Amino acid sequence: MENKKNDNIRCSVSQCRHNLVSENYCTLDCISVGTHEDDPTVPECTDCNSFVKRGDCCN
Ligand code: SF4
Repeated sequence: MENKKNDNIRCSVSQCRHNLVSENYCTLDCISVGTHEDDPTVPECTDCNSFVKRGDCCN
C-alpha cells in the first residue's frame, strides 16, 4: 500500500501516484532527485525521478 505519509518529503504533485493528495506529501520512503540541465541554477532545473504518472484506475 502506498498511503503512508512521509513527513520528511513534502510534495504537491498530485498527478504522481506516490503523492498522498489529501495532504501535500510523498508516500515513498525515499525519492531520487536529479536534473535535466548541464549546470542547474534554479529549482526548476531539478526533477523528481521517482515520479510515476497516476493512472486512470487502480490507484
Ligand atoms: S515520487 Fe516525487 S513527484 Fe511523486 S509524490 Fe513523491 S516526491 Fe512527489
